[in-house]
Amino acid sequence: MNICMIGAGYVGLVSAACFSNFGWHVHCIDKDADKVAGIVDGKMPIYEPGLEELVERNVKAGRLHFSTELAEAVRDADLVFLAVGTPMRRGDGYADLRYVYQAVAEIAPHLNGFTVVTTKSTVPVGTSREIERRLRELRPDADFAVCSNPEFLREGSAIQDFTHPDRVLVGVDNERAKAKMERVYEPLRLRNAPVIFVGRESAELAKYAANAFLAMKISFINEISDLCEEVGADVQQVATAIGSDRRIGDKFLHPGPGFGGSCFPKDVSALVRTGREARAPLSLIEQVEKVNTERKIAMIPRIERAAGGEVRGKTIACLGVTFKPNTDDMRESPSLVILPMLMERGARVRAYDPQGRANAEPLLPGVEWADDALDAAEGADLLVILTEWNEFRALNLRALKERMRGRILVDLRNVMRPEVAAEEGFVYHGVGRREGA
Ligand code: NAD
Repeated sequence: MNICMIGAGYVGLVSAACFSNFGWHVHCIDKDADKVAGIVDGKMPIYEPGLEELVERNVKAGRLHFSTELAEAVRDADLVFLAVGTPMRRGDGYADLRYVYQAVAEIAPHLNGFTVVTTKSTVPVGTSREIERRLRELRPDADFAVCSNPEFLREGSAIQDFTHPDRVLVGVDNERAKAKMERVYEPLRLRNAPVIFVGRESAELAKYAANAFLAMKISFINEISDLCEEVGADVQQVATAIGSDRRIGDKFLHPGPGFGGSCFPKDVSALVRTGREARAPLSLIEQVEKVNTERKIAMIPRIERAAGGEVRGKTIACLGVTFKPNTDDMRESPSLVILPMLMERGARVRAYDPQGRANAEPLLPGVEWADDALDAAEGADLLVILTEWNEFRALNLRALKERMRGRILVDLRNVMRPEVAAEEGFVYHGVGRREGA
């Protein structure tokens, strides 16, 4: 099968590499010429474990190509996947579909023979129908069908998620298109991965509903963790207890500084707007949006309390700035709210992140950057853990203490065992457990 993937971002690049590794012939197109040139040179534009080797192997095998020109790739394609960004629109919080529709206008002149055009991007319900309408208008002669194939991979484990998915979801209203989609996912079906076929509106809505549900779980445990602190309960114990109920599940029950990333905030916001427009308001999800915005800001008084009342004149070592570990993605990261607020209140911030610095530096003016955790701790009054990178789980606390001026450790991800931190002489503040415990 010939595939044309439009977009070489987190989703497009990973999907293109994985499809080519199935044996399909893939052309991955991005209009960002620097990005394409970098990939061709073997430099991945994103940090994603295993991606570089996968791309290299399939490029060498002649199955994976990168270009800025889509004409030929679309002409040859059985399937065109749209994996362009759908960011939050300024002003109204709805999904900005300009990249999707631009890509649609660009592929239209080159459709040739029966072609399935499918969205991998997260798009609001009704978008497939609108793409079909636009393509039909631009190319009344063309033989095509439009599907929805929302992507569920997670940054940091994207290849594993693509190749071992909980399910592949395809929204399709056309038998010929369904046959093509069955074929392209045949390698996963052979491995017993469930490929679920539903209507296009259901697929589109399911992606948003899934993300909103996961975001709701995070906001839920964040509020429960606040309650734990007030009543002497331990959120880790509460999460284990409720998470062992299979109806609830133990995932996404980790309290922290609020959710971020390229998906949850924008998808929650877009779903809320879809609900309002459809006159089916989603009051629960509206609350999630509000709770999460407040959550990030609420980390400031928490850090101030730990610092003895205020952070003015204090040096804060901040470990982790990405919204989650194993990625360099800074989009909507809580650090983008928390670090500037700490600096506004007169703190000096020294940050370290294993992969995020290059993306973070222009977004966080005023932050000093360190090469590792020890370097960040130099002269610090307090240490704040913001992202649960694995290397922060095994920090050498003794060495950190020697570098620091103070003894305060604010662990906003509960990566440390409080008793271990206390043994090393730290005053430990976790989330959802007794202060100093
Ligand atoms: P991204 O911003 O990393 O990548 C999008 C790419 O598309 C960019 O490289 C951009 O240059 C390119 N592009 C835009 N318009 C183009 C055009 N007309 N022709 C060629 N290239 C074009 O975005 P992403 O994180 O990969 O997300 C893509 C979509 O997938 C979004 O809708 C997102 O919600 C969804 N999604 C993302 C994730 C994730 O973890 N990042 C997971 C599931 C779904």
